[in-house]
Amino acid sequence: SVRVRFAPSPTGNLHVGGARTALFNYLFARSKGGKFVLRIEDTDLERSTRESEAAVLQDLSWLGLDWDEGPGVGGDFGPYRQSERNALYKQYAEKLLESGQVYRCFCSSEELVKMKEIAKLKQLPPVYTGKWATASDAEVEQELEKGTPFTYRFRVPKEGYLKINDLIRGEVSWNLDTLGDFVVMRSNGQPVYNFCVTVDDATMAISHVIRAEEHLPNTLRQALIYKALEFPMPQFAHVSLILAPDRSKLSKRHGATSVGQYREMGFLPQGMVNYLALLGWGDGTENEFFTLEQLVEKFSIERVNKSGAIFDSTKLRWMNGLHLKALPSEKLTKLVGEQWKSAGILTESEGSFVDEAVELLKDGIDVVTDSDKVLLNLLSYPLHATLASSEAKPAVEDKLNEVAASLIAAYDSGEIPSALAEGQSGWQKWVKAFGKSLKRKGKSLFMPLRVLLTGKLHGPEMATSIVLIHKAGSPGIVAPQAG
Ligand code: GLU
Repeated sequence: SVRVRFAPSPTGNLHVGGARTALFNYLFARSKGGKFVLRIEDTDLERSTRESEAAVLQDLSWLGLDWDEGPGVGGDFGPYRQSERNALYKQYAEKLLESGQVYRCFCSSEELVKMKEIAKLKQLPPVYTGKWATASDAEVEQELEKGTPFTYRFRVPKEGYLKINDLIRGEVSWNLDTLGDFVVMRSNGQPVYNFCVTVDDATMAISHVIRAEEHLPNTLRQALIYKALEFPMPQFAHVSLILAPDRSKLSKRHGATSVGQYREMGFLPQGMVNYLALLGWGDGTENEFFTLEQLVEKFSIERVNKSGAIFDSTKLRWMNGLHLKALPSEKLTKLVGEQWKSAGILTESEGSFVDEAVELLKDGIDVVTDSDKVLLNLLSYPLHATLASSEAKPAVEDKLNEVAASLIAAYDSGEIPSALAEGQSGWQKWVKAFGKSLKRKGKSLFMPLRVLLTGKLHGPEMATSIVLIHKAGSPGIVAPQAG
């Protein structure tokens, strides 16, 4: 049966790369009717914190990637934190010692440094060539009696190749002669990372290891440990790096890279999940809009691309906008209304003003926090315009003067405010009469009106905008400041 795992190290926030790995594991499990396991890799006790673990779990939950086994859920293969699995690692390390696949190495760190320097001088790979690989039982006994500290070293075959069939990258092979006998347990009795991961994946019956490409060198060591312990080898799938637009490795200097930052900026989990899925995957059609359920339905690991995927925050915003507008309209209205209230633009988060304004403005909103400036921009339209700063002035200049004078007169006489008090139909009626009196209709009426009233050539539908702007003077709307 399919069992996959996401294995974050709780040493910081969940970044977009980790989130995509988690998502691919989740999608693979759900699409195969398998299990999605969460394992916390907290062997680095100095850098791992419970706060970071909690934050990672929160981010995964927010994305909707619920796990079947792991912290907070339990399961038959626990404990699910590496820091709680030491006895197991010890047990398997001893097993390898007994079978001779690891040996005790009593080299001091000075000796090891010297070995490396000599290798360098001889232009040889810096691999372990110490005597302890071939030491006699008597030599070992002697050191044990003296109490000399030792590590456990893995006996790597001196020649040959190790091959895996990666589900994304195809055949990957390594020449073993440059690897050298690596440490699996330190002199303080702490097993090393690769050893823990192997024992965990094997004893948690993980069938597919889907993780980032940067773990490929670990896979070599882990595969050797699998063989030595006679564990069945899982299938591997190494997902390519996420790159910045300049094709360098994505990092903080490229802007927000953690899931939590995007949540705080007002992104929707649906938009995030959809965008992350497209980083290296597509269903083979032009379609890019997917809900999590649709992704489960369509996902296949064979379609994951082996070249690096570029993280494009503009596309992420656009994608988020699609999901925002796909929300049921009450939900969208509620979300935006609350945003306006918390930004201090409105005193109430609901009501007819909010309903109308959301309906009018939603096309301009990709991320809910954008809605502040979109509303402020609308409310700051000059109701009777000064043309001096109008960006649109040259385009309609000849038509403006005539319309402007009449418009300002109609405004000042109270004609326009009282038409607006009757809502959209009042406004429409007034515009018709106004057009008639100037012998203008269609574009030659509406363009100058729009420019005079809003200072812009384009914008949301006029009747609704104007009514909303008029209402902005009413109680409940705090302070439309210039946007
Ligand atoms: N703990 C590793 C990380 O955070 C993942 C290891 C793995 O997936 O094997 O990158």
